[in-house]
Amino acid sequence: MQYEKIPNGFGNLKAIFFDMDGVIYDSMGNHAIAWNKAFADLGVDFPLEQVYLNEGRTGSSTIQMCFAEKLGRRATEAEILHIYAKKSEFFEELPNPVAYDGMKELMQRIKDAGIAIWVVTGSAQEQLLDGLCNDFAGLIEKDRIVSAKDVRHGKPHPEPYLNALKKSGFAAAEVLVVENAPLGVESAKAAGIRTICINTGILADQILWSAGADAVVKEVKDLEKYLK
Ligand code: CA
Repeated sequence: MQYEKIPNGFGNLKAIFFDMDGVIYDSMGNHAIAWNKAFADLGVDFPLEQVYLNEGRTGSSTIQMCFAEKLGRRATEAEILHIYAKKSEFFEELPNPVAYDGMKELMQRIKDAGIAIWVVTGSAQEQLLDGLCNDFAGLIEKDRIVSAKDVRHGKPHPEPYLNALKKSGFAAAEVLVVENAPLGVESAKAAGIRTICINTGILADQILWSAGADAVVKEVKDLEKYLK
């Protein structure tokens, strides 16, 4: 594994922007099942790898992408609302995703070091966002979350991360992004931000390097070496 592109230590770091699914929560398995079931309702097969490759898109962008590829047309607004509601419903039937081991402790150390914590997610599922603020009480504030509701263009477009820079007031050079998905990495890098990728999913590391990651690591504790 290569680590050398990002120097160790906080340096001029003032904020860390965390992606949520697959970074804070071990939730991608549930999302994959929920998307599969929602599309299967329409008779469309949306395989696991597709879910991971498209992770980070907004719900509506995921649905449009799948419609274009599998049905050769655009989804209507009603279809998007229906499928996303179904997906959220299937997701909520599954056991609550848990945070990755060590994430809370890591965030506490980040906070203690005076570094701001923001969350930039393609999700718009209220239940998840409320759960996030409860699970990470004192660490994550609702007004420091940029969700699908705050942007017109989801990842891989830079808008989510540009929006977070604007809202937080930090310059790109003062921020580090932690992502897990290729489109999330593309989005952050297009916003000019250094990006560490935790590869918690099923994709090969090479896909994440190709997306522009400055480092690719395996798990939360591997992040420590950048934050000592
Ligand atoms: Ca993610």
